Amino acid sequence: MQKKLFIPGPVNVSEDVLKKMAAPMIGHRSKDASTLQRNISEKIMKLMYTKNQIMLSTSSGSGLMEGAVRSCTQKRAAIFSIGAFGDRWYKMATSNGVPADKFSSEWGSPTTAKMVDDALSTGKYDLITITHNETSTGVMNPVEEIAEVLKKYPEVVFCLDTVSSLGGTKIEIDTLGVDICITSTQKCLGLPPGMSICSISEKAIEAAKKVENRGLYFDLLAMYECIIKKDHQYPSTPSLSHMFALDYQLDKILEEGLENRFMRHKEMANYARRWAKENFDLFADESYASNTLTTVRNSRNISVSDLNKKLEKYGYTISNGYGNLKEKTFRIAHMAETTLDDLKELLNTIGNILNL
Ligand SMILES: *Cc1c(COP(=O)(O)O)cnc(C)c1O
Repeated sequence: MQKKLFIPGPVNVSEDVLKKMAAPMIGHRSKDASTLQRNISEKIMKLMYTKNQIMLSTSSGSGLMEGAVRSCTQKRAAIFSIGAFGDRWYKMATSNGVPADKFSSEWGSPTTAKMVDDALSTGKYDLITITHNETSTGVMNPVEEIAEVLKKYPEVVFCLDTVSSLGGTKIEIDTLGVDICITSTQKCLGLPPGMSICSISEKAIEAAKKVENRGLYFDLLAMYECIIKKDHQYPSTPSLSHMFALDYQLDKILEEGLENRFMRHKEMANYARRWAKENFDLFADESYASNTLTTVRNSRNISVSDLNKKLEKYGYTISNGYGNLKEKTFRIAHMAETTLDDLKELLNTIGNILNL
């Protein structure tokens, strides 16, 4: 039976997209490889609403997150955390010897513009990281308000983790002034895991030039220079299979229409939230609830792992809570190619299993 995944990555991948992964290889130093990457970049620029350079990395998103904080922090990084993935970004900084401070919000709450202003007004920081959509708690940060405050600090490099939101909700990179926007293939973009994507601004590049120890594989400056000098190629061999599939899937995304795609995600989020409130409760502060996944507070004290075992019989999988939130919450992703009808079927099935 075909699995129906409602977990926040990897997501279901359409048959035709999967088939593109099986396309014959081309040389990674060939003209065709340059053309492939250039085409992908142009389409990603539309999806990110940016004119900045696009870079692909043969790694999951964590690779580029680590690369960003290591390559572009000269002084000190301010890491804003609202859950597990913000915490991970802090670990990436400290384990690389990058000076950093973590500013945490209570799980379920966002990073506020005031928190960012308070931290940056000290003048201690030259890079900040924000999680756009925290996949552990189901909170989507008020990135417009944060971006507004950041305009007061033009020297600070703004890194944004959009791993679980880009492609599912509108994020206007240039309007927001994001210097490095990072995402992965296996969430809202609807592709297999194994590749990640970022946009990078001139400001971030200039910052990286002043950092001595940028590492090697995730040295963002080296990647950037290779793209410029070798017409959109990479220092090492990229996953061409992912690139074939990504190029094709981006056409499908643009064909659906970005506004339509974002609206589909919004409708699913509204439906999931209403269901959660009627039957359980929402974990996230509702004004900041995510458009791409819903974290449900397990207010009925059901066994989430039992529920998942029963769902397996119907081919469905949902996610238990993350880390300490295991069994206290469960997570339903509504991202990528999932439709409102798919979601309704899942929630009906859960309703039947639990006699809701
Ligand atoms: C999944 C996820 C990550 C980690 O991405 P990988 O591609 O698994 O490395 C980081 N941040 C957020 C918000 C995520 O959802």
